[in-house]
Amino acid sequence: MRIVFIGPPGAGKGTQAALVVERYGIAHLSTGDMLRAARDAQTEIGKLADHYMSAGQLVPDEIILQIVQDRLLADDCRRGYLLDGFPRTLAQAEALDQMLAQDSTPLDVVLELRVPDEELFRRLSGRARADDKPEVIRQRLVAYRQQTEPLLDYYQRRGLLQTIDGLGTVEDIFQRIQQVLDPLAERSARQQP
Ligand code: ADP
Repeated sequence: MRIVFIGPPGAGKGTQAALVVERYGIAHLSTGDMLRAARDAQTEIGKLADHYMSAGQLVPDEIILQIVQDRLLADDCRRGYLLDGFPRTLAQAEALDQMLAQDSTPLDVVLELRVPDEELFRRLSGRARADDKPEVIRQRLVAYRQQTEPLLDYYQRRGLLQTIDGLGTVEDIFQRIQQVLDPLAERSARQQP
């Protein structure tokens, strides 16, 4: 099963992503985690990315695409994956479509985790990550609304979008996600026994 997971910062994507990859036995590809690992390892890409991340801005598409393209080739992706935090721009979505079309491995579903702004601010203010300072939070939300939200329409037109209500307990939300994914998991198990 190949899944794209979209949601604003603070929506709880990371928490739900961990539950999803565990239940369905697929790889978890978080571009945020990959960039933080690159930054901590002080690689060239990491140093470059840090500059944008600490300002709450998106890292340039070329850098992200390079990282993702390499990662999608790894063995553990053959059984499926959850893309968490990618694509975040229309250009990234188009590039992903091209990569997947080449291998005839289309996406099965795009999950949007929807949470109102007031709740996002409340949640993010309680975290302690370096890019969770109020001004940076605001900038990340702006980046989401301006650059990532247009993807919802893009995937809606392709019949792939499923919106999940992101309010409630972790268990409530995971239940809603399972209602969408369980039938798809059965379908893809039948296709590739
Ligand atoms: P969150 O979803 O909480 O904003 P992430 O861990 O997904 O956090 O990403 C943290 C930062 O990493 C982003 O603010 C951005 O600077 C960078 N980043 C992650 N994924 C992408 C991407 N696909 N395109 C551009 N920048 C990205």
